[in-house]
Order: sequence, then C-alpha cells, then structure tokens
Amino acid sequence: MKCPKCRNLDTRVIDSRTTDDGKAIRRRRECEKCWARFTTFERLEFVSFMVTKSSGELEPYDRTKVVNSMMKALIKRPFDPDKLEDVINTLENEWAQNKQAITSKRIGRDILRKLRDFDEVAFVRYASIYHNHDNVRGFVKFIEDELG
Ligand SMILES: [Zn+2]
Repeated sequence: MKCPKCRNLDTRVIDSRTTDDGKAIRRRRECEKCWARFTTFERLEFVSFMVTKSSGELEPYDRTKVVNSMMKALIKRPFDPDKLEDVINTLENEWAQNKQAITSKRIGRDILRKLRDFDEVAFVRYASIYHNHDNVRGFVKFIEDELG
C-alpha cells in the first residue's frame, strides 16, 4: 500500500478492525519513511445471484442458509472451518457463473457432492435431512449409489 504523502511503498499496519458488520476491514497504516498515518478500507466482494425454489419462486442467494444447512450435518464432527469456507466459496463461484437463476435442487445436489469428499458422516446426514426419501430402502440405495 503506497503512502499517500511520499509515495513510499513500505507502510505497515498499526491497527486493523472489522466494520460494517464484518463486511469491511478498516486498517490504520503508517509510512515507514515519512511516518504519515492513513486509513484504508478493504471490502469483501459478495457473490450475488438468484435461486429458484422448488415452489418456482425466485429469491436472492443467501450464504447463511447454505452454511447453516452444512453445519447441521456437521454437528459434533471434527472439521477444519477454513476448509469448509473454501468448499462454500468454490461452490458459490460455480453457481454465480450460471447465466440463469440456479435451482435450490442443484444447490442441494452440489453441497451433497462436496460433502461426500469432505466428511462421509455429514454427507449421509445431509442426504437424510435434505432429500426426501419415501422409505429406508430408497435412502440406503441412494447412499450406496452415491458412495459407489
Ligand atoms: Zn510516506
């Protein structure tokens, strides 16, 4: 980050805090040459796209829903939150590339596909919570097919 006063490139962060409900980071920086102090704001870029629900209704994509649904399946499972974050980011990027609204069904399928590699127990839980299976046999067959 360039110093606005002397254009020196070596500046250091002396304070950093999140603002705007965690959506932005405010950093106090100090130039190592002229000791000028300045503030920078870094804002996270959020993906946004529309989701078609099974009822046919459209709604804006909500990351919280995805996180909550995955957390429900991951209860009491050991996992790396950073890796989960990566998985969700990857999925969001895939979904956002779609020209049209993404179906909630596809979202469910994709999450399931990722969970299969992420945590098998969570995968089975997710499948049982979010996929309607009329009977146990249908569910077992589905799991067997998926884990193949
Ligand atoms: Zn400077």
